[in-house]
Amino acid sequence: MMQFVRYTAGSTPQWGLHEKDRIIPLAGMREDVTYRQLADKGFLTVVEDAAEAAPASTMSVEEVRLLAPVPRPGKIVCVGLNYHDHAEEQDEEVPERPLLFGKSGTAVTNPGDPIVLPAEIDELDYEVELGVVLGRTAKNVDAADARDYVAGYTAINDVSARDAQFADGQYFRGKSYDTFAPMGPTLVPDHRLNPHDVDVACRVNGETKQESNTNQFIFGVDRLIEYISGITTLRPGDVISTGTPGGVGIFRDPPELLAHGDKVDVEIENIGTLTNPVVEE
Ligand code: MG
Repeated sequence: MMQFVRYTAGSTPQWGLHEKDRIIPLAGMREDVTYRQLADKGFLTVVEDAAEAAPASTMSVEEVRLLAPVPRPGKIVCVGLNYHDHAEEQDEEVPERPLLFGKSGTAVTNPGDPIVLPAEIDELDYEVELGVVLGRTAKNVDAADARDYVAGYTAINDVSARDAQFADGQYFRGKSYDTFAPMGPTLVPDHRLNPHDVDVACRVNGETKQESNTNQFIFGVDRLIEYISGITTLRPGDVISTGTPGGVGIFRDPPELLAHGDKVDVEIENIGTLTNPVVEE
């Protein structure tokens, strides 16, 4: 699997390839890595050739600090109720069109960094989600062409303050506190991953809470891009968070919400495991 990573080895953030617990720096390439290039098959071939030619400069993944692959998304468009099992656990009908909401781009945080539980929030929850990173500007794109606009895929924890979400009757506050969008650990190009057949899981303190597969999607990545790009222009570095499967904390009986000291793992097949501790403000 071709996994791009953003990382720092103590200085400027840079791009590398993650392979067998090693990081291959891509700093010596002709150009810097961009989301636009990740959507380009030819670029991926160039990177693969360069990586093979430069094994001497690799580092262990333990020697670097992995960073969110999209530190400053132009926007994060989130999809609610996009897995059949998550709609069922809420007794919700399968929606006729995607339910969209926004999450602040400044909520993005890195693998390993804390999810900060705000003092005024009592109901902190986790949601494993496949993140779609745009590589090209998309407006009124047909589903049949939509995948051409994708740079790649990452894992997102759509952290949610349920009390804020339900009290407000709209989602922005409950979804947008700083650190509520852990992202990573890798970015896998569209040309190397089928987004409609990957296992997704979430564990809290090692215990599995969510376990599904994106074959449960109600709306696939192509349909989402068609729908969203018919509303708003998507640009390189924008992110679509594709919704979460069943098993979220708030709909458990009794509810199982996150608390200070918890450790949350969000795992997506071929992308990796994104781990973040929960820390009180
Ligand atoms: Mg969500």
